[in-house]
Order: sequence, then structure tokens, then C-alpha cells
Amino acid sequence: MTALHLGRAALPALLPALFAGAAWALAASRLMHRAGQDEAALAAALVVALAVAVTTSRWAVHESTREALAAGACPRCRRALLPEHVHAAEGALGAGLQLWECTACGYRRSEALTCRGCRS
Ligand SMILES: [Zn+2]
Ligand SMILES: [Zn+2]
Repeated sequence: MTALHLGRAALPALLPALFAGAAWALAASRLMHRAGQDEAALAAALVVALAVAVTTSRWAVHESTREALAAGACPRCRRALLPEHVHAAEGALGAGLQLWECTACGYRRSEALTCRGCRS
């Protein structure tokens, strides 16, 4: 059940990553080919494609998670999510805490967040 939810959420985010990876791989292999490094061209293309795909997909997943949380929706199952803020303890040096918990699928996330109310 969990894997299914994750897969559905990750697929649209992965598509632009694959396109970006392929485009960069093509550019890298052409550069290497022009430099006379035919054997290295394929290896370079693969390495570049992998690096770009991983970076882009991580960024895309991160962005979609941010957008969902900002809209008050669960990044995993898209149901309404109730954000909860815990103010930093009075006089404490630590930051406040922002919590998100989805009662439908069990998604949990916490982030250090200091709001205006934390310091008053
Ligand atoms: Zn606060
Ligand atoms: Zn959920």
C-alpha cells in the first residue's frame, strides 16, 4: 500500500528528470566525440545522465513535497493535512518546531521553524 502511494507520487516528478538526464547525456557524448574520445563518450554520457537524473528528481520531489505542505495537503496521499506548530520553549535557545501528520496514511514530517510567536 505504501509503495503504491509512493510510486504514484514519484512518477510525474521523475519524468522531467529523465528528460533532463537524456539531454545532458547527449550533450556530453557529443562533446567527447568531438574531442576524439569515442570510448569515453558513452561512459561520460551515462555518468552525466545519472547525475542529472538523480539531482533533478530529488529537487522535483522536494518541490512537490513543499507545495503540498504549503497547500495543506499530504504529499503522499493528497488528503487534507493539519499542520501543527510547537513554539520554542521560553528562554530556550532551540528553534520552534513545525509538524505535519497525516491521519489517513501515516505520513509524518517535522521541521525546525521559528515563528514570531516563538520569541514573544
Ligand atoms: Zn512559534
Ligand atoms: Zn497522507
